Order: sequence, then structure tokens, then C-alpha cells
Amino acid sequence: MNTKKTLYMVVPCYNEEEVLHETAKRLKEKYASLIERELISAESRVVFVNDGSKDKTWDIIQELHAANPETFSGINLARNSGHQNAVLAGLMTVKDICSMAITMDADLQDDINAIDAMVEKYHEGNQVVYGVRSARDTDTFFKKFTAEGFYKFMKVMGADVVYNHADFRLMSARVLQELANYKEVNLFLRGMVPLIGFQSCNVYYERAERFAGESKYPLKKMLAFAINGITSFSTKPLKLITTMGFIMSVVSILAMLWTIVVKIAGASELGWSSTVCSIWFIGGLQLLALGIIGEYVGKIYAEVKQRPRFIVAEFINNTGKNTEDKQ
Ligand code: UDP
Ligand code: MG
Repeated sequence: MNTKKTLYMVVPCYNEEEVLHETAKRLKEKYASLIERELISAESRVVFVNDGSKDKTWDIIQELHAANPETFSGINLARNSGHQNAVLAGLMTVKDICSMAITMDADLQDDINAIDAMVEKYHEGNQVVYGVRSARDTDTFFKKFTAEGFYKFMKVMGADVVYNHADFRLMSARVLQELANYKEVNLFLRGMVPLIGFQSCNVYYERAERFAGESKYPLKKMLAFAINGITSFSTKPLKLITTMGFIMSVVSILAMLWTIVVKIAGASELGWSSTVCSIWFIGGLQLLALGIIGEYVGKIYAEVKQRPRFIVAEFINNTGKNTEDKQ
């Protein structure tokens, strides 16, 4: 049984002015009931992380903090750093002042009512509680298809992730301390957290539709995210290239034997189509292989530079100390 009870929610927000008021209202009600039932302490806070929004998101966060400093805090990042970095920025900022942190999207797609079960599981001794969606009824066919394909493809490619779990999860302060030691620039939190270990469990919830506004993850970003996930967690694609190269070598030896046989048989004028086809085929394979290797080289380049993953411009919080320019 964990006795420490300070919960910090980390909510990344990028151009979320349309949903923030509603999210804040619902979280405030949830906090009131959790505090009343003594599941969390009165020092618990909701931290909205403004990820370089171009709309009024930061103004709204400041207003929320001014009106309810005992519930809402805010982090303003120096610029847009992307969802994963915004989540990490929040977690790293609160890791020393909380006993547990829950990360949740701002758009109310993650079920706020699952928070109770998450906190209860934490009190039962779990250090990580994954929010796993039980149904995808509210998604469009396209989103469902691509998202499920994503998890299956990730698994085939050797990056082990919790099926149907996105970034709605609880982590204890202990786990956050360990997460701080993972210095990689190419962030893929849902692959990293299982690597940390500790006792964990799942909480199931139904994912709702976005409350308002548009998805900030168009297909292009989703594909980039999948490629990032695979190349950050597995070198299987590199091994596939080796296998492919091996198979091609065997095939080419067979082809060589075949040409010799045809030559001896005296029918050597044939061959134009097979030559052209193999040139295109091998050329394509080589480019693909180079592209995959390039993907990894690019990763190494980004890691070697060790640039900060996010820059906190401001942290407004009435319990912790206010920080500036902390990595
Ligand atoms: N988000 C962010 N930075 C970005 C893009 C998105 O902080 O560059 C936040 C966004 O405000 C939301 C969460 O990440 O709280 C998930 O984004 P979204 O709901 O658009 O993705 P989807 O649910 O459609 O996959
Ligand atoms: Mg969403």
C-alpha cells in the first residue's frame, strides 16, 4: 500500500483553446471527488503543458491557474516540441514534487473516470498503470485500421508495446526517477516505459471522440511516429536487409546457372526483359536498404548532438518552486 498521495496530471496542449475549459472543469470535479475519498492529497495538481500553441491556449492556462491555483498549474514550453516531448517536459518538471503522475491528452478522448481505477491500482502497489482502450467504436474505419495495423506492425518489427495503449498512464515518482535516466532524443514513451519494469497493470477504458477541435496527428505524422517507434526500439529492419541480401544472392546464383544453361543450349538472344526487370528490382531493393540504414544513421546523428528535448520557459505552480529554462 502506497501512502504517498500527491497526484500530478500532465496534460499536453497544442492549440487546444476549444477544449481546455471543458477539460479543466471535468478534471476539477474529478479531483474534488478523489480528494474527498482520500485517494489523493490536497496538494495534487493538474499541469497543462503548453506546447508552443499558436492560439490562446497559454492565456487560458494562466487564467485557470489564477482562478484555481490550488488545482491548476501550467508549463509554457519555449516552442512547439511535439506531443512526446511535451509529455516528458511535464513529467520531468513534476517528478520531484509528486508521488504519482498521470499523463492524459487534453481533448477528453481518454476517459477521466479511469483515473479512479488507476489511482486505486497505484495504492495496491503498482508503479505503472497503463490505460488500455477496450473498444474502438468511436473511431473512423480509417483511424481504427491504421491504429491497429500500427500495433501489429510494431510487434512484427520487434518493438514491444502494450497493445492498444497510447499515452494515458500512471507512473509513480520512483519510475519517473528512472525515466529521467533515459536520455534519448528520439522519444517513444510507450516503448520506453515497459523497459523500465516494476510492477504494472492495465486499466481498461473506452476512448471517446475528440471533444472539439481537430486531431493534431494527421496520417503523415502518424507514419513518422510509427517509423520512429520501430527504429528507436528495434534493429530488426537492419536484419531484414541482411536476409533480403542473402535471398537475392541465392536467386542471382540460380539466375547465373540458368543463363549458362540457356547459352549452352544456343538460345541466347532472349534476355532483354529479364535483364531490365532485374535492374529495376535490384535497384529498388538497394534504395530501400539504403533508406533504412539512412533512417538509423539519422537517429545516431540526432542522439550524438544531445540537444535538449524541450525547454521550459515558465512553470506556474503555487506549491513547487517556479523554474526557468530547466531542461
Ligand atoms: N499535442 C502536443 N503537441 C503537438 C501535437 C499534439 O502537445 O505537437 C497534444 C494535443 O494537444 C493533445 C495530444 O497531444 O492533447 C494528442 O493529440 P491529438 O488529440 O491531436 O492526437 P490524436 O488523438 O488524434 O491521435
Ligand atoms: Mg486526440
